[in-house]
Amino acid sequence: MNELVRMISDDGTLYALCVNSTEMVKDAQNIHSLSKVCSAALGRLITGASMMGVLLKGKDDTLTLKMSGNGPASPIVAVANSDGFVKGYVGDAHVNIPLNSFGKLDVSGAVGKEGNLTVIKDLGLKEPYAAQIPFVSGEVAEDITAYYYISEQTPTVCGLGVLVNPEDEQVLLAGGFLIQLLPTADDDTITKVENGLKGVKSVTSFLSDGLTPEEICKKILPEFNLELLDRTNVEYKCDCSTEKVTNALIAAGKDGLLEMAEDPQTEAVCHFCNKRYVFTREQILALIKECI
Ligand SMILES: [Zn+2]
Repeated sequence: MNELVRMISDDGTLYALCVNSTEMVKDAQNIHSLSKVCSAALGRLITGASMMGVLLKGKDDTLTLKMSGNGPASPIVAVANSDGFVKGYVGDAHVNIPLNSFGKLDVSGAVGKEGNLTVIKDLGLKEPYAAQIPFVSGEVAEDITAYYYISEQTPTVCGLGVLVNPEDEQVLLAGGFLIQLLPTADDDTITKVENGLKGVKSVTSFLSDGLTPEEICKKILPEFNLELLDRTNVEYKCDCSTEKVTNALIAAGKDGLLEMAEDPQTEAVCHFCNKRYVFTREQILALIKECI
């Protein structure tokens, strides 16, 4: 069970979100057989995406985060819906590189120190909203913070953490927080947020102390009175289906389908959950009449 909370300060100056995403990141590691550093990279991205998803307004809105960089694991992709449910994948899930100079998993070394973060929001309009910013660090949290500042002009602080057992390489803990200033925030609000952040070591250290997401928000922002807006359960969940895969095949067009029909069987594998969909030649040929 992954708990995500959304809180607001009683003076109306900021929102605070926090999630314990341990199970979600464990599921991602199991589905994709992620290496240590890829568990940290994708784990951070899906944790961030989950909170960003909850900030979407419409029920059917979705959000895609794609980090394409010059590292060997690139790209990493996460998709979230407005319930905070996520799915994701890594270009090369098995990349192993040495720890960075701080003795930590080298996420930017795996994804890239240079690259772009693309944020796509499908809000049910004719065209999805898309924005792209260059990496600040390639460490994920700073890049998400910069996205909000540059593209949405919303001062935001994002913290993300994934703790991996160095012995058996299994994910132990994962979580994140997102603080967003509201238009009523002033210099005093910023000072109080900065004071609070000085005392923050990492999200995972709070989690290993047994703190709940609600308690973590209060710990990070001790100078604010925070009120709970909602508490939800989020998880790693793929929504692929035979119908969606069929539609993707139809989108390949008549020529594409004829090429597939040269083989007795066509196999499609979902990037997000590795589920296999197998179509016979007859099934592929039957799709041709669906092409416009
Ligand atoms: Zn799937």
